[in-house]
Amino acid sequence: MSSATLLDPQSPALWQTLALPLPDGGALPLQVLRLDRCDSLAPGNKLFKLAGLLPEVSGPARVLSFGGPWSNHLHALAALGRERGWQTVGLVRGEALDTPTLREAADWGMALHPLCRADYRQRHSDAFQLACQKRYRADRVIPEGGDCPAGARGCMAIGAAIGARFGDGDGGFDGGGEGAVVALATGTGTTLAGIVAGLDRRFEVLGISALKGAWDTEQRILANLAALGSAGDTQAARWRLYHEFHCGGFARANAELRKLLAWADGQNLPLEPVYTAKALLALQTLADRGELSPGKPLVLVHTGGLQGRRGFDWLAHQPGQ
Ligand SMILES: *Cc1c(COP(=O)(O)O)cnc(C)c1O
Repeated sequence: MSSATLLDPQSPALWQTLALPLPDGGALPLQVLRLDRCDSLAPGNKLFKLAGLLPEVSGPARVLSFGGPWSNHLHALAALGRERGWQTVGLVRGEALDTPTLREAADWGMALHPLCRADYRQRHSDAFQLACQKRYRADRVIPEGGDCPAGARGCMAIGAAIGARFGDGDGGFDGGGEGAVVALATGTGTTLAGIVAGLDRRFEVLGISALKGAWDTEQRILANLAALGSAGDTQAARWRLYHEFHCGGFARANAELRKLLAWADGQNLPLEPVYTAKALLALQTLADRGELSPGKPLVLVHTGGLQGRRGFDWLAHQPGQ
């Protein structure tokens, strides 16, 4: 599997059209790229980041990474390990190894070990990673969330799929060729960097931070863009980050977000509160304020993560797809 084969941009199953209601009674068409519908045990953006690492991990390997008890990243790594025949090791923040997320990861063969919070805080340190690699005899350590240049490179396929639909004159979408405004939720910003690097200047990419006050995200994005050779490229897509739609902080929700999630469920667009619902909330708010460039198609990248809905008792069911 390469990241390119994960996405057939012309596959109708991956695209959903929705109408965002506007205050004046009108509606704004929204095209949703449903990465949650990619063919995998654990679909979503984490799969693309990990696919970017595939060329660097060959044969039967033991791959180690870090995450919380509801981590989409560990979940996807366990799934990919099962699909690729890797041994996978997950070092988990805190003591709770009994979430549905981690039970599934364990079923797919991931060895799980808890890390106390003090140890977990060292997860970005090279020395700590090397010690973990030795202790668990891993061939490769992947940073938390797949935040590395190879992870961003894997996400270029998402940009390419959007470009094929909205950037080619004959791209199968009416009026194709003029580019688009593309929105997605960001954590580390790795996915946004890959998408930006995969598009050209007819596109504008809006990152909606799921975290409160994550002022270092811009720098992380610039670092990944530099590694991909796209930083400062005047032909590259433009991008910006919004920091005002975190709804109280990471994995927090407010009444507005819950209401929007329920509305999206009713539109057959299942979202989750940690990331994807915040991206839709941002688009709805910007549309209400009249702040979205008119005349360009509007795209929302559904980055997946639906397995995490199980962590919210007010949402404790899996949505119908
Ligand atoms: C991890 C994640 C993100 C954020 O991705 P980054 O590359 O860290 O910005 C967005 N949406 C979902 C569903 C995720 O799991």
